Amino acid sequence: MPEQKPVFERLALIGVGLIGSSIARAARERGVVGSIAASARTEATRARVVELELADEVFATNAEAAKGADLVIVCVPVGACGAVAKEIASALKPGAVVSDVGSVKSAVLNDMAPHLPKNVHFIPAHPVAGTEHSGPDAGFAELFDNRWCILTPPAGADAEAVARLKQFWTALGANVETMDPLHHDMVLAITSHVPHLIAYNIVGTAAHLGEVTQSEVIKFSAGGFRDFTRIAASDPTMWRDVFLHNKEAVLEMLGRFSEDLSVLTRAIRFGDGKTLFDLFSHTRAIRRSIIEIGQETAEPDFGRTRKTNEPPVPLARPYAND
Ligand code: NAP
Repeated sequence: MPEQKPVFERLALIGVGLIGSSIARAARERGVVGSIAASARTEATRARVVELELADEVFATNAEAAKGADLVIVCVPVGACGAVAKEIASALKPGAVVSDVGSVKSAVLNDMAPHLPKNVHFIPAHPVAGTEHSGPDAGFAELFDNRWCILTPPAGADAEAVARLKQFWTALGANVETMDPLHHDMVLAITSHVPHLIAYNIVGTAAHLGEVTQSEVIKFSAGGFRDFTRIAASDPTMWRDVFLHNKEAVLEMLGRFSEDLSVLTRAIRFGDGKTLFDLFSHTRAIRRSIIEIGQETAEPDFGRTRKTNEPPVPLARPYAND
């Protein structure tokens, strides 16, 4: 039963995957919008959106979905955001708020802003919540509960439009923070992008090992490796786009990571247990502080799904193929 007066009358979701469908579910359940229009690239996704009753109207073109909407949220991979902005530009209602959910903010701002008319309010956003699953079936209404949503309004953005978008994300369960897009990209490079790259890389390295068999890797994967395989099962298109569009910040963080890894390598080589113990104690304290501030629950983002009895998360492709 809707709990409140709608924050926006009509919401248009361009792309209905994990994030778009979670927004649809949360917005509907909590009465955050009056109606939802949606568009998706493929017929299969559009049919699923209808079956799951995620939107009031489903369109084959992004412009049709955006038409007349008070809030338009672009929920497609980062690399596709510019083209979507171009498609919807002429259909946008004057005064509408246009936003996105991309995991990179500077590139999205640069790619979308030039196409959008002056009479709409463009406020990029990034809900820092997700799972390794994709598509309209993967979403769930609680995805954003107690997670952060970072808004990166351009200089001179309309304060009232920013406040309304903040109200929207708060109603979806998120805590909202405003940030400069470049700073966002730097923060996310170390907290999300580089960790994903490490997971993709370690799973790839294990797949190429000659001395350790694939069945041994799978059989003994509880030793920390299993968590990496889960992260490395994340959507290849989305993550390819993240690395291509947050190049500078990721390279900066990777450089620092490599330097620190060299210190650990040296400590292991020379039997320097103190260096290892001190770092591990420090990182344990960081983990405990994350739990204390409530950004970790018994069920972390990775592994959270709306279905409680689904089969175990499959291993990443290198294993599935071998
Ligand atoms: P998803 O589940 O794979 O859904 C992506 C949606 O975008 C689908 O509706 C797909 O359409 C559509 N799409 C894919 N490529 C497209 C293209 N070239 N042009 C137009 N539409 C396209 O992805 P998601 O996880 O929801 O991610 C969407 C956005 O959220 C990304 O920008 C990502 O960076 C951001 N994000 C993701 C997470 C996460 O953990 N997954 C967290 C925060 C933010 P079809 O289904 O018809 O192919």
